[in-house]
Amino acid sequence: MSEPIRKIMLDEKSIPTAWYNVQADMPNPAEPALHPGTLQPLGPADLTPLFPMELIKQEVSTERWVEIPEEVRELYKQWRPTPVYRATGLEKLLDTPAKIYYKYEGTSPAGSHKLNTALPQAYYNKAAGIKRLATETGAGQWGSALSLACTFFGLECVVYMVKVSYNQKPYRKAFMQVYGAEVIPSPSMRTASGRQVLELNPDSPGSLGIAISEAVEDAVSREDTNYALGSVLNHVILHQTVIGLEAKAQLAMVDEYPDVVLGCCGGGSNFAGIAFPFLADRFQGKKVRLVAVEPDACPTLTKGVYAYDYGDLAKLTPVAKMYTLGHDFIPPGFHSGGLRYHGDSPLVSQLYHEGFLEAQAYGQRTIFEAALAFARSEGIIPAPESAHAIAGAIAEAKAAKEAGEARTILFCLSGHGIFDLGAYEAYLSGGLKDVPYSEEALAKSLNNLPKV
Ligand SMILES: *Cc1c(COP(=O)(O)O)cnc(C)c1O
Repeated sequence: MSEPIRKIMLDEKSIPTAWYNVQADMPNPAEPALHPGTLQPLGPADLTPLFPMELIKQEVSTERWVEIPEEVRELYKQWRPTPVYRATGLEKLLDTPAKIYYKYEGTSPAGSHKLNTALPQAYYNKAAGIKRLATETGAGQWGSALSLACTFFGLECVVYMVKVSYNQKPYRKAFMQVYGAEVIPSPSMRTASGRQVLELNPDSPGSLGIAISEAVEDAVSREDTNYALGSVLNHVILHQTVIGLEAKAQLAMVDEYPDVVLGCCGGGSNFAGIAFPFLADRFQGKKVRLVAVEPDACPTLTKGVYAYDYGDLAKLTPVAKMYTLGHDFIPPGFHSGGLRYHGDSPLVSQLYHEGFLEAQAYGQRTIFEAALAFARSEGIIPAPESAHAIAGAIAEAKAAKEAGEARTILFCLSGHGIFDLGAYEAYLSGGLKDVPYSEEALAKSLNNLPKV
């Protein structure tokens, strides 16, 4: 038998020329987004204060392939195609008959998959004459990616950063400032939404829902400014499909096809990015399981409800049908800031609801155990978010061992954890606890869903 190929590389000519749009193949059309004021279906004009027309079109497009602009593809070449690794070290550690592969998105200069969508978003805004982008960031990865993308396209960037992360991760802030962004801890006094939260709770740790309200308010209040979101929206999901398209080509190079594909799931973009190109095959009758892995402290798919809800606390964003914990649900402050969103991608939600996707949830101690096992066997220190996918892959590999069967596992390693060493330190010193969400708070926030 030949040695397994450890690292499967494509050359830059193999970067996809088009993104895959799952809306072309869904058995039921995507549920429409609603206007937050009237709760009537949104028209394109409702979104123009926030997004350029090209992104609005992508939001509702049912074209199967959307061409990647040449300028964006040129910039992708800086780090794409990303490698697919065979996790030989992890396989040995687990003593499993399963083959484990992972697509490593942490090789991007911003450290995660988020640059895949930050670049096209900055590109389309620039092309539409916009001068400045406002956004929010949780753990800091999205803010970092957008800061860099804005610099490449000569745009200003203002980032509302969830306060608990701002305090936990000072170097993330510096990272964004190096790329030229202005970084503001949220909730802030800058916006009416922020001031309202601070009045009620001066010590609010912030949440993505609050930070989104602030960024949207900033964007709506200025002609030269648009808003950019790092996950959830259909156009973001679209851009992230470069991950799965490349991974499929890479596995084909070693005559492999996965039995199961996993990704961690916050707003759903890296999971959908790796999973949807395989879902396309499943729509054609191919057998492949697609598993989203989320934190049990913010269990949107596994414990939330499928309903229309606002994307933010102040109800400024469109109302979308999605799995949600309620727009005023504030998850406890655990160490995977990128997974603390109350909602989920409407596309992921609908396809999960229709039975095409699976979901699992793990506590953060399990997550850090998996992260350490991975770092010590594969050498890469994963982002705590990405470690959810690792935990899911380990569970699959163990199940394969128990069943005594071969199984090919592919997961997305969405980013590195070099800025998360504070969390690792807490885990290593025994200071990291599983933080349950409050059942009572969840029931209360689910009461506040819009009546559609
Ligand atoms: C933002 C982020 C996530 C969560 O966002 P998704 O849209 O669910 O992918 C996961 N991993 C990393 C490294 C991130 O930066």
